[in-house]
Amino acid sequence: MGLKCECGGDCILNRRSLLEKIQDFYNGCKDCYNPHLNKRAPLRDQVDLKVIDRDWGKCRCGKRHLDTTMGHILIIMIEEGILDRKSSLRSVGTPLMSIGYPLSRTPFLSPKSLILLSKNLDKKTAKRIIEEVPEVKGVIKGDPRMTVGVLDSKYEPIVYEKLAGCDMRCDIIKTQIGALCIYKRQSRMHIESPDSSYLKLMSLHNILRKFKGSFKVIDATCGPGTLGLFALFAGASKVIFNDIWNEGLKMTFINLEVNQFKKDKRGNFEIYNEDIRDLPSLIDEKYDLCIVDPFPGIDVSPFVKASKKLAKEVLLIC
Ligand SMILES: [Zn+2]
Ligand SMILES: [Zn+2]
Repeated sequence: MGLKCECGGDCILNRRSLLEKIQDFYNGCKDCYNPHLNKRAPLRDQVDLKVIDRDWGKCRCGKRHLDTTMGHILIIMIEEGILDRKSSLRSVGTPLMSIGYPLSRTPFLSPKSLILLSKNLDKKTAKRIIEEVPEVKGVIKGDPRMTVGVLDSKYEPIVYEKLAGCDMRCDIIKTQIGALCIYKRQSRMHIESPDSSYLKLMSLHNILRKFKGSFKVIDATCGPGTLGLFALFAGASKVIFNDIWNEGLKMTFINLEVNQFKKDKRGNFEIYNEDIRDLPSLIDEKYDLCIVDPFPGIDVSPFVKASKKLAKEVLLIC
C-alpha cells in the first residue's frame, strides 16, 4: 500500500494492519503502572514534580499510563509559564488517541500514540512536548467545542492550528457489517466520538436494509467519507461522495483506499467538491438515498430541498 502521510511518515496503515494493531495497542502488561491521579486536584499535591521526566512511570515494556503522560505534559506547560503551578491534569487539554475506538479502561500508551488538542499552547511549548514526551505524535491548538470545517460556500473554513508533529489519526468504528477505519487530519476535521459516528451509521443501516437489489447513494456532506463508505460496505452499487470542504475529500480518498475500495469498471464511486445546492444541476440520475450530515446549528432547509431533487429518500442527520 503506497499511502504516504503529509508528514512524510508511515502514519497511514491499511484496514487489516490497523485491526491487527489495535488488538493490544492500549493494553498494559502485568507490570504497567496506573498512578491513580486525581485529575481535578493540583498535580503538585500528588507527586513530586521534580521526578517527572520522559521515563517517569514508564514500564519496562515501554508503555506509560495516559495520566502519567498527561502529567509529564503538564509539567512542561508549567515550566513554560502556560499553566500555573496549581494546575491539574484537567487543564492540559484533550487527549486524542492516534487510533481511536471505544476503550473500557484508561489506555497505556506506546510512543507516538497521542495527539494533544489544547487551547493554551504556543509553538515553542508544542515543540518541547513533541521532543520530550515520546507518546505524543502531534500537538494542535484549538477549542474542542469548536466545529472544524466549512459551514457552507459563503464562509471561510474553520480550522485548528497544528503546532508540532503530525495530526493524522484514525477512528475505528465497529458495526454489524464490519469495521470502518476513518483517517482524519485532526486540525482540519471535526472531532467526533466513535459513539456518535456509530449512531449515525445505525440510522443509515436501518434505511439501507430496506433497499432490495442494487441501490445508489449520495453522501452529500461526506467529510472524511464515513457514511458513504458504510453504504459501499452495505453493498451500494454506486456512491457519490461530495463535500465543499476539500480537506474532507482528501481524507475520503485516503479512507477509500484504506478500506480497500477501488474504483471498478462500473465506476462504483465518484467524488465531487461542490456546494450541495449545486449538485442537482450536475447529477442527472435520481439516486435511491441522499445523506445530509450538516454543520450543527445551520439552516438545513436549502440542503433538504437539494437532496429531495437528488434522491427518492433523504436521511438528514441531526
Ligand atoms: Zn503523519
Ligand atoms: Zn508494561
